[in-house]
Amino acid sequence: MSRINILDENTANKIAAGEVVERPASVIKELIENSIDAQSKDITIEIEEGGQQLIRIIDNGEGIHPEDIERAFLSHATSKIEGIEDIFKIKTLGFRGEALASIAAVSRVILKSRVKEFDFGKEVSYTGGHLDYIKDVGANIGTTIEVFDLFYNVPARRKFLKSTQREAGLISEIVSKIAIANSKIAFKLFNNSKRVINTFSSPDTLNVIRDLFNKETCDDLIEIESHGDTMSVYGYIGNENLSRGSRNNQNIYINGRYIKSKLITAACEKAFKSFITINKFPFFIIFIDIYPELIDVNVHPAKTEVKFNDDREIFKMVFDSVHKALRNFLEGSFVIEEEKSFGEGSSYEEREKPHEKMAYQLPIDFKKEVSGTYLSEEEKGIEHKELEMTQATYIREESLSKLPALKILGQFNSTYIIAEAKEELFLIDQHAAHEKVLFEKYMGEIENNVVISQILLIPKIIELSLENFYIYKENEDIYKRTGFNIEVFGENTVNIREVPIILGKPNLISLFQDILDDLKNMGRGKTTDIIYGNIARKACRAAVKAMDALSLSEMDSLIIDLGNLRDPFTCPHGRPTIIKLTLNEIEKRFKRI
Ligand code: ADP
Ligand code: MG
Repeated sequence: MSRINILDENTANKIAAGEVVERPASVIKELIENSIDAQSKDITIEIEEGGQQLIRIIDNGEGIHPEDIERAFLSHATSKIEGIEDIFKIKTLGFRGEALASIAAVSRVILKSRVKEFDFGKEVSYTGGHLDYIKDVGANIGTTIEVFDLFYNVPARRKFLKSTQREAGLISEIVSKIAIANSKIAFKLFNNSKRVINTFSSPDTLNVIRDLFNKETCDDLIEIESHGDTMSVYGYIGNENLSRGSRNNQNIYINGRYIKSKLITAACEKAFKSFITINKFPFFIIFIDIYPELIDVNVHPAKTEVKFNDDREIFKMVFDSVHKALRNFLEGSFVIEEEKSFGEGSSYEEREKPHEKMAYQLPIDFKKEVSGTYLSEEEKGIEHKELEMTQATYIREESLSKLPALKILGQFNSTYIIAEAKEELFLIDQHAAHEKVLFEKYMGEIENNVVISQILLIPKIIELSLENFYIYKENEDIYKRTGFNIEVFGENTVNIREVPIILGKPNLISLFQDILDDLKNMGRGKTTDIIYGNIARKACRAAVKAMDALSLSEMDSLIIDLGNLRDPFTCPHGRPTIIKLTLNEIEKRFKRI
C-alpha cells in the first residue's frame, strides 16, 4: 500500500482543475474508483434519498495508513502519483487527490479505515471541510466512507439536482457501468435498503452483463476482439434486438476507465450503419487497452474524457473490429439458412429456386433433344460427362454463395430487388449491389495487373494546371495499372486514349480529375491498396449510374454475382446492399404476434 503525499504546486497546477462533485452519482463514481484503486474485491454501496441524505461505501481493499487518514482529506493528497510525468503511465483510476477534499467540503463525512499491518483502525469525521474528530476504532481491513447531507451548505447545487428517483437512477447507471469493467469485483447497490444491483465476482464480463441485464441480453450479444501493436479492442456489441432510442447502452472503457468518446461512438455507429439502417442507437461495450503513453487522461476533471495521440488509428481499429464482427455474424446467419435449404440429401433440383432451375434445365433439355437426334452413342457419352461436369461446377459455385437461395419477386421503384428465402424477405439495392460487383471485379483485375481497357472512339484531351500535371506525372504508373492509357500532349495537357472497360461510359473528365484530387489529398505514404481501393470506388460509382429497370434474368445474374463476392453485404462505400426482414418482424409490424 503506497503512502499519501501532497502534490507540489507545480504538479497540482498541471492537473485538469474543476468540479468533481456535481451530483450524488459523481460522488459515488469517485468513491468507487478509490475502492477499486485499493484492490477491493467486494464493494457495497448504500444510498438514501437519491444519495442526498446518505451515501455509504464499504470496501475490503487495502485501507488507508492510520497516519495518512487526516492527510487524505487535503487538496492534492494522493498516493497514486508523485509528479506530473506519472500521469502518462497511470494504472490507477484516480490521480488528482481532489475527491475526498471536495466531497468533505460540501457534506459531513465519516471515514473509517484499517490496513492489515495494524490491528486497529482510525475514524475521522469532517463537516464542511473542518475536522470534527479523529479516533482509533475497531474495524475490518478496508475502508467505509459515509457522506451525509450532500450540498447541505451549497443550496445552489441542491437546486440543480433532479428528483430523488432520477438521481438514484443515475447512481445505478454509473455503478453498472463501473461493474461491467470490473468483473472480478462483486458490487452491491442498495437504494433505501432495497437491493438494486448485485454482481458476483467472475473473470468473465459476460457473467456480469447477465447479472446486470438478463440472459436474453447475453443471447443477443456478439463478441468483438482485435489486437494491434499498441492496443487491443474487445468487448461485445448487440444485434438489432438490443438497439434503442437512446445511447444509454453504449459503454466505452479505456484501460478499464469508463469514458465518453464521440470518436469511438462514431466509429461503432458507423460500422453498424453499414449493415443496419434502422434509426436506433446500437448496444455496445467496448474495451480498449492501450499503452498509457499514447493517451492523455488529464483533460477533464471528472476524468471521463481521454485524448488520444492518434485519433485515426483508434477510429480505424474500433470501426474494423465492429465491422468484422457484424459481418461474420451476418454471414453466419446466412450460412445457417443456406445449410437449412441445401441440407444433406437435397439435390439441386429440390431447392426452392424455380427461376434458377429453369435457367439451368433449359439447356439440358435442349441438349438432350439434340443429342438424342443427331449424336452417336460415343458422342452422347462425352456429352453426358460434359453435362455432369458443368452441373458439378455450377453447384459448387452456387454453394459458395454467401446468400441463401433467393426467389425474386420483383422490383420496386426501379431501384430495389425484392426477393424471398425461407421466411425472410430481402430488399437488395441494385445500384449498390452492382457497384460492389464491379468494385470487387475491378479490384481483382488491378491486383493481378490484368485490367482490360477499351479504346475511346474520340480520345479526350484535358488541360491541367501545372500542379495537377506534376501530380499526374508522379502517379502515371497508377493510372496505367488501373487501365487508363494516357499520353502526355504538350506542356500540361494529357490525352486519354483508353479507359478500363468495366467503366462503361463514365464522365471521363470529372473521373480523371477526381482521381487526381484524391491522389493529391492522400499525399505520400499511403499503401497501394488504399490508393487502388479509392480509385476503384470512384470509378465504379461513376459506372453504375445508367442502370435502372431490370429484367428478371438481369436481377437473377446480379444476385448470383453478388452472392459470390468476398463481401456481398456492403457497397464499396460501406452502406448495406441487402436488408433482411424476417417473417417474425413482419408479423410483429402487422401486430399478428
Ligand atoms: P486520488 O484518488 O485522486 O488519489 P482522492 O481524494 O480520491 O484522490 O483520495 C485521496 C487518497 O486517499 C488516495 O490517493 C488514497 O491513498 C486514499 N484513499 C481514498 N479512498 C480510499 C479507499 N477506499 N481505500 C484506500 N485508500 C483510499
Ligand atoms: Mg480518487
